[in-house]
Amino acid sequence: MAQKVKNIKLYKNDLPLNIKFKGSIAIDTETMGLNINSDRLCLIQISDEEGNPYIVQFQKNCYDAPNLKKILKDENILKIFHYARFDIAVIKKNLGIMCKSIYCTKIASKLARTFTDRHGLKDLCRDLLKVDLNKQSQTSDWGSDNLSSNQLEYAANDVIYLHEIKNKLDKMIKREGKQNLAKACFEYLPTKAEFDLLGWHDKDIFQHS
Ligand code: MN
Repeated sequence: MAQKVKNIKLYKNDLPLNIKFKGSIAIDTETMGLNINSDRLCLIQISDEEGNPYIVQFQKNCYDAPNLKKILKDENILKIFHYARFDIAVIKKNLGIMCKSIYCTKIASKLARTFTDRHGLKDLCRDLLKVDLNKQSQTSDWGSDNLSSNQLEYAANDVIYLHEIKNKLDKMIKREGKQNLAKACFEYLPTKAEFDLLGWHDKDIFQHS
């Protein structure tokens, strides 16, 4: 059932069947913490190309979500994340599926903006869009049944700027001739997430020793 909090559409445990996305969607997750193997998934936020936010709130052990899974596995819908490595691992752990067709604004920023080491979402919003992103609810209780309007707004804010950020970064990546490198990095992300789930966080299999 849809609940309207400002222009945010909130759903429990799955998206309704009648919601269709085309082209690309921005995605983020909120969890009980940063341990992908033990901290459960609480929210998945999605923004469409028009910047409309959708939030799916998961009750504990209610990760069936067939409609959402279909979208996440759809190769024809590009998923724009910021730090996809974490989100796709959490999604794999909780929903049991690997996302297909992935873009990561953090990786894109690292490839394009080599003049800085500031690649957080707040940094990208400020530097590329002149938007001051409020990160105050970042560490709140996302497992709560009744999320506050501040939490919902925070959660939506984490996805509604990603399309614009991607557009800016894509222009820089093209200018610097790094499109192929970016594409290869994005394609490697599911493997990186699988390594993380195995506990190989710091292991670099490309390194000599
Ligand atoms: Mn977030």
